[in-house]
Amino acid sequence: MKPQLTISEDSLTLEIYGGYGEIGGNCVLVKDRDRKIVFDNGIRFQVLRKYYRGRIQPLGINELRSIGAIPPLNIFEDIDAIYISHFHLDHLGLLGALPPGVKVYVPSIDILEVIEDWYRRSSTWLAEIPHRLNIKIEEFSAYHMDEHGVIPIPVSHSAYPSYAFLYEGYSKTLFYSGDLRVDSPLRSRIDTLSNIERAIDSMNLDIALLEATNIGGIETPIGSEEFRNIMNRILMENILVIISIDPLDYELFTAISELALLSGRTITIASPRIIDVLPKWLKTSNTNNIDLSRIAIAIELEKPTTVPLQYVGLKQDVFRTPENFLLIQEPVSFLEMLRQMRLWGEELPRNAIAILTTPEPLETELEVEEKTLITWLYTLGIQIYRARFSGHYYPHELRNIVDILKPKKLIPIHTKHPRLVYTVVQQMLEQSR
Ligand SMILES: [Zn+2]
Repeated sequence: MKPQLTISEDSLTLEIYGGYGEIGGNCVLVKDRDRKIVFDNGIRFQVLRKYYRGRIQPLGINELRSIGAIPPLNIFEDIDAIYISHFHLDHLGLLGALPPGVKVYVPSIDILEVIEDWYRRSSTWLAEIPHRLNIKIEEFSAYHMDEHGVIPIPVSHSAYPSYAFLYEGYSKTLFYSGDLRVDSPLRSRIDTLSNIERAIDSMNLDIALLEATNIGGIETPIGSEEFRNIMNRILMENILVIISIDPLDYELFTAISELALLSGRTITIASPRIIDVLPKWLKTSNTNNIDLSRIAIAIELEKPTTVPLQYVGLKQDVFRTPENFLLIQEPVSFLEMLRQMRLWGEELPRNAIAILTTPEPLETELEVEEKTLITWLYTLGIQIYRARFSGHYYPHELRNIVDILKPKKLIPIHTKHPRLVYTVVQQMLEQSR
C-alpha cells in the first residue's frame, strides 16, 4: 500500500498511511537517518464500514490488511518503536496484527490491560486488539525525551490518558497531535494548550501534523461551562437521570460525578466496563475530587470490585427516591439492566431522562446502534437528551493552537476537510507574520 501523503525535508521523511482526508485510522511513519518510528496504529473504520455489514464480516488480519483497513506490514520492518497516542481503536488498532519483536509505547499499561480483557474473548476480529506475547509493551512518561527523540505531552481528549508527541529529529522538529480538545470537562486540571507550550518551550517547529476532526463539521460548540450548565439544570429536577459515558472518557466521568455530588445525588455505576476502569483511573490520576463514599455500584450488576464502594439496589433504592441518584451507564451495556427489570415487571420511575453523550461515533467500533437504543428507551418511557462534549477542539479554537505551535508547515489529519484547514490556517499564518 502506498502512503496517502509523503513529505520529505532534509533528513526527515513522513509517510502517512491513514488519517489523511479521513477521520480516524491514524498511522504515520517517521524516517530520520537511522531512526524509524511510527505514530499510532489505527483501524480505518471508514474502510471497514464500506466492506463489511451484517453477515459479511472480516476473514481475519490478512484480509483487513489487504483492503487497507489496518496499516501495511512492511512499515513495521526494523522500526525502533510505535507510539500510541490514546486508546481509541482508530489509534490503538489491532496489536495482535503487529509483527513479532516490535516495541509499542502506550500511555498506560494498566488501562491497556483492562481494554485487552474486554476484547480477548470476542468471537470477532476484535479479538485481535490484545497484543501477542512476542511484542514488547512499554509505558512512556510525560515531558521526557526518550532515546528516539520523542517527547510525550499530556492533552485532554475523550479517552484518558491521551498524549500528543513532539519529535526532535536530526534536522527537523515535528509535532503530532493525536486527538485533542482545548477545553477539558475538568477545565484547568488538564490544560492542553499550556502543556503543549511547556513542551515546545523555545523550540522552532518545522512540521505540525494537527488533527482537525471538527473543522468542516456541524457541531454545537459545547465547552465545559455549557456542559456544566446543561447538566446542572437537569440534575436539579426531582427525576431519575441516566447518563451514558464512554468507559474511556474519564475526564467526563469525573466532571459529571463532581456535579452529581454537588446536587446531592449519589453516583450509581450500572456498567461493568466503567467498574473495570475505575480502580486504574483512581490510581493514575490526581485530578479528581471524587468522594468515594458517594459512589455506589448497582447491586443488580453482580460485579465485584477492588475499590471500596457501597452497593445500592435499583429497585429498593434508586427507583424509590430517584432524585437522590445519578445512574451512569456506558453505551455498550446501556439497556441490559433496564430491559431485564421490565421483564421482571418492575416499573421505572416516571419522567426519567437519559442523556446520551456519545462522544466519537467514528472512532470506535459500532457495538450499539443508536437508533435501536432510542427505540428501547422510548419503549421504557424514558425521554432522551443529547449533550455531546466533543473530544476534539472546535473551529474557533484553531487559532489558539496555531499561535502556540507556529509551525513552518501544517498538515491537517483526522479530518474530511483538509483543504478547508489549509485555507484557514494559511490566512492565520499570513496575518501573524
Ligand atoms: Zn480519539
